[in-house]
Amino acid sequence: MKSSVYFMDLTASPKENLLQKLGRLCETAGISKFIQKKDLVALKLHFGELGNTAFIRPVFIRKIVQMIKEKNASPFLTDANTVYAGTRSDAPSHLTTAICNGFDYSVVDAPIVIADGLRGRSETPIIINQKRFKEVYIGSEIVEADALISIAHFKGHELSGFGGAIKNIGMGCASRRGKFAQHSNVSPKVVKKKCIGCGDCISHCSQEAISLLDGKAGIDVKKCIGCGECILICQNNSIQIEWNQSVPIFLEMMVEYTMGVLSSKKNKAFFINFITNISPACDCYGYNDAPIVRDIGIVASADPIAIDQASVDLVNNETALPGSCLKTSIGAGEDKFRGVYPNVDWKIQLEYAESLGIGSRSYELIKI
Ligand code: SF4
Ligand code: SF4
Repeated sequence: MKSSVYFMDLTASPKENLLQKLGRLCETAGISKFIQKKDLVALKLHFGELGNTAFIRPVFIRKIVQMIKEKNASPFLTDANTVYAGTRSDAPSHLTTAICNGFDYSVVDAPIVIADGLRGRSETPIIINQKRFKEVYIGSEIVEADALISIAHFKGHELSGFGGAIKNIGMGCASRRGKFAQHSNVSPKVVKKKCIGCGDCISHCSQEAISLLDGKAGIDVKKCIGCGECILICQNNSIQIEWNQSVPIFLEMMVEYTMGVLSSKKNKAFFINFITNISPACDCYGYNDAPIVRDIGIVASADPIAIDQASVDLVNNETALPGSCLKTSIGAGEDKFRGVYPNVDWKIQLEYAESLGIGSRSYELIKI
């Protein structure tokens, strides 16, 4: 059966601005069915690393907060801490970064509660008994919440091809231990011939796993946690993983975490993807390269798989923007995410999620 994905483009008028249109999108898509009076509602989003500017504008989040308050429920914004060095790896720095990026109470009208506590250790195990994991570890505040609204910035991602609802939930709600578990199979290697010994990767490795020897970088596999940060940082493409083996396993692990999170939210989860500022890489980096296609719009659905499938299709239907990093797959209908990451088969996350019954890849796009 086809799932419904509701779509708003970015046209507006004096009669209806984009915030009002977002409200209409969410109501038409049925957000009210998932929220009851007095519910504590987790709005799971990504606050952006310091220096990144591609994340969702806080005024849109405020609109969603206000809609939930009108239903006499209590929204809070949340995300879990990161495993890599950066500006969101513990609760104080995470909160500070969120406020610096505009997610201040005075703007968003709701508090922030970091999902997995001070150092990422506040977690709740959930038994799933699947191929990759028997048990997954989720930030406790997300498990405790009565309802979950995923608000994902849809963009490219170096390990998953694209990042949307599945990544926002599966990786984004995992505690530190859960994130480590998902990255456990990603073990990069330095292609010595290509390495020029610039050292950029060393300062970006949170685990001090990289060092220079005879002018070439080397990775200590015992220290490496497989976060993948160094792969994108190296401008010479000298750091590689065994894409054919590592990526499918990584994607299946992320999907199983998504399943774990959603198992605690039966009929209490709703998904919104912002297909805007479609940067080639994750908002976890302290910069964002030029968008690969134009701003397209916002989609909302009760189905996390259908919304990601629809989002990827909407992006791929566009022509690439001049000046972006895309050098192939430029035309409308060509795969933009394969164009940026030729080694990553992003379809795996959707196919596996569908096979686990999390949602459907088949959808009807309903324009409001
Ligand atoms: S960033 Fe790349 S080129 Fe520079 S030292 Fe690291 S692996 Fe070598
Ligand atoms: S070597 Fe690369 S993948 Fe491993 S921990 Fe360091 S930055 Fe992450």
